[in-house]
Amino acid sequence: MIDFKAAIRTIPDYPKPGIQFRDITTLLSDPTAFRASVDALVAPYADGKIRHVVGIEARGFILGGALAHQLTAGFIPIRKRGKLPRETVSVTYELEYGEDEMELHRDAILPGERILLTDDLIATGGTAIGGVKLLRDLGAEIVAACFLVDLPDLGGSKKLREMGVDVRCLCE
Ligand code: IMP
Repeated sequence: MIDFKAAIRTIPDYPKPGIQFRDITTLLSDPTAFRASVDALVAPYADGKIRHVVGIEARGFILGGALAHQLTAGFIPIRKRGKLPRETVSVTYELEYGEDEMELHRDAILPGERILLTDDLIATGGTAIGGVKLLRDLGAEIVAACFLVDLPDLGGSKKLREMGVDVRCLCE
């Protein structure tokens, strides 16, 4: 059994004093831990019914690409404003200080398509909730949202579940 938590390092006072930053680069660079993370996250969806994995820029791309490959699904990026070349749907989402905007190609998903949303970590949930809104705008069926890490004290996973999303995380 892999200890996912042990594979993630904590950097105190980054990016600001008082913040404990969970640095997942150590998990990604560990061949056994990365493989086991991807295997654990895809396990419930081996029935082949996920059409697309949707990853949130930027660390969600690393995980999302691996999950999509494993599920024989396509990969779709949610990007920061101004990066996607065709028509998009966009949403403003809450950051710790202020807000930002993210976008998804309007023609990336057809109504009713079954998707898996992913990012490396869920904290306050602002980012993931933005992703859910974009996907629901396009009529996607969000089978689940999955993350390597949940910071439950910040309440994001609870909020996502209250929106009717099945949330799966490897560790807290
Ligand atoms: P939220 O929107 O507050 O849930 O924050 C989640 C987003 O911020 C994700 O895209 C994460 O990549 C990033 N994030 C927030 N805190 C951390 C952390 O401690 N380590 C790595 N990423 C973080």
